[in-house]
Order: sequence, then C-alpha cells, then structure tokens
Amino acid sequence: MKLPFALAKRFVAGEDFVSATPKVSELNALNIKVTLDLLGENVRDRKQADSNLTHYIDLLEGIHETGLESSISIKLTMLGLDIDNAYCRDNLFTLMDVARRQNQFVRIDMEGTDYTQSTIDLFRDAHAEYGRNHVGIVIQAYLRRSEQDIPDLAALGADIRLCKGAYSEPARIAIQQMPDIREAYKKFAAHLLEHTAFPRMATHDDELINWIKEHIVKQNIPKERLEFQMLYGLRLNTCTELVTEGYPVRVYVPYGTEWLPYFSRRLRERKENIWFVLSTMFKN
Ligand SMILES: Cc1cc2nc3c(=O)[nH]c(=O)nc-3n(C[C@H](O)[C@H](O)[C@H](O)COP(=O)(O)OP(=O)(O)OC[C@H]3O[C@@H](n4cnc5c(N)ncnc54)[C@H](O)[C@@H]3O)c2cc1C
Repeated sequence: MKLPFALAKRFVAGEDFVSATPKVSELNALNIKVTLDLLGENVRDRKQADSNLTHYIDLLEGIHETGLESSISIKLTMLGLDIDNAYCRDNLFTLMDVARRQNQFVRIDMEGTDYTQSTIDLFRDAHAEYGRNHVGIVIQAYLRRSEQDIPDLAALGADIRLCKGAYSEPARIAIQQMPDIREAYKKFAAHLLEHTAFPRMATHDDELINWIKEHIVKQNIPKERLEFQMLYGLRLNTCTELVTEGYPVRVYVPYGTEWLPYFSRRLRERKENIWFVLSTMFKN
C-alpha cells in the first residue's frame, strides 16, 4: 500500500524537483543555502542505479539552470554500492565529472555501518580526483570508529558534515546514550574547527549549537568559518536567527517519491515530530 504524500510533506519538499523548487527559492530568499536530496536508498539492480545516476545528473543540471543556491546530497547505495564497488565508483565519478564541469558540490551522505568503510574509501578516491570544492562526506558522532575517522579525514583536508547519526546501531559500534553522543559531537566539532577550513555542523540540538557558538568565541574563530545545517521542516526560526547573527546556514531539502525510510527516521528520532506531521495533515 502506498501511503499518501500528505503524511510526509512536513519533512519532504515535494515528489519531484519541480515541486521542491519553490521551497528552495524561499529558503534562498532568507539567505539560507540548500542541499537537495533525491530520496531513496539501497537499490539492488543496475537498471535502477543507472536511472538514479540520470536523476542525480538531471538534478545538478536543474540546479545549474535555475540558479538555485543548492548543492546535492547523494547516497552511494542509490548508485549501486550493494551491487558492485567498481560499478558504484564509476557512477560516482560520472556524476562528479558533471559537478566539476558545472562547478557544483556533491555531498556523500553517510548510511548504516554496513557501508561506512566503503563510503569512506569511495569518498577518498573522489576527493583525490575532484578535491574538497566538489565533494564532501558525513561523519556520525555516535560511531566509535569516528574517533579515528575524524582526524584522518580532517588531515586529508576533507569537507565534513558532522551529525549525530540516524541509524540504529549496536552498542559495540555506536555510543547509545545521548549525553555521551553529545560529548563526542563536541569533541569532534572542536577538532574540525581547529583542523578543517569550513566544517558543517548538522544538528537541531540547542545544547550543541550553543556550545559551538561559545567555543568559537573562546577560540577566536570567526562565525563565517563554519556552517550550521538543519533538515527541511525543522527549526526554520532558529535557522533565520542564526543567519541574522551572521552564521552561514544550509537546509537539507529532501524530495522524491521514495520518502518512507527518511520519514520513518525523522519520526523515530523525536516523538514531537509525530505531532508536527499530524498538525500539518489537519491544516490542509
Ligand atoms: C543537515 C543534516 C544532514 C544529516 N545527514 C545525515 C547523514 O548523512 N547520515 C546520518 O546518519 N544522519 C544524518 N543526519 C541526521 C542526524 O544524524 C540526526 O539523526 C538528527 O539530526 C537528529 O539529531 P539532532 O542533533 O538534530 O537532534 P536530536 O538528537 O533529535 O534532538 C536533541 C535535542 O535537540 C532539540 N531539538 C531537536 N529537534 C528539534 C526541533 N525540531 N525543534 C526544537 N528543538 C529540537 C531538542 O532539545 C532535542 O531534545 C543529518 C542531519 C542534518 C540536520
């Protein structure tokens, strides 16, 4: 059974690029940059992965033609990571060729831990070929391995988005308690601020946002040296306040018909999101 899109519209900008575009323009008008994300994950046949590659290329071209202030986020499992590593790499590089030609930026989202190492490996290949102005990665603060990945990738000069981590992972792999995840996030944020040019801090958590603001004052780091990132449909007022205070801000805007896994993660991570969804449904 296909669930109605009305359910997801609080968190998902539309079912296609054209319907998401006005939302991107509205955010850009508020001085907020965007990352567009074509929803979907885990494709298991080449036909679907080829079609996703075409969609990603169309997305880069659509952004280029419309002049929107937007990069894109991709998932390697949409480009065939479950099928074959070399095939996925070819797809990634085909996409990156377009991004480089049009001077655009592609962020590789981080998925569940079955994919962490292969995602980092393919990111490293792409980073070596296309550089930090065209490709970036995401590191999840809850993963125990991030203790090593953060300094390694920072030393590479990578463009890193730091988030807590959205997938259910066992305790041997990921920190489970929120206070401990926050402590890890702060430690990694400090490292990225010290060792990378322009870290992206993806969180809606006031404790972390306030900690970062205080930390950069203490360390004498200008506000323009980092970017706060939030998800579409969440904390827009906080985003505009941050812009007014002089921080670069970007909103991650997902769109597409395959919204159920993304939508489920948003409901799982915060029970208030369930009320947001219900109130949006009954408004229209
Ligand atoms: C731009 C972006 C990109 C991401 N990319 C990835 C990725 O590639 N891979 C991945 O695994 N995960 C990704 N995530 C998800 C991330 O890992 C977390 O699951 C998600 O952001 C929830 O953690 P949080 O720190 O935002 O807040 P939470 O841990 O959900 O909440 C902590 C506290 O923050 C405050 N808060 C949170 N939301 C709100 C709200 N709407 N209104 C008011 N207060 C609020 C509350 O005080 C809450 O108790 C991304 C997140 C963002 C913002």
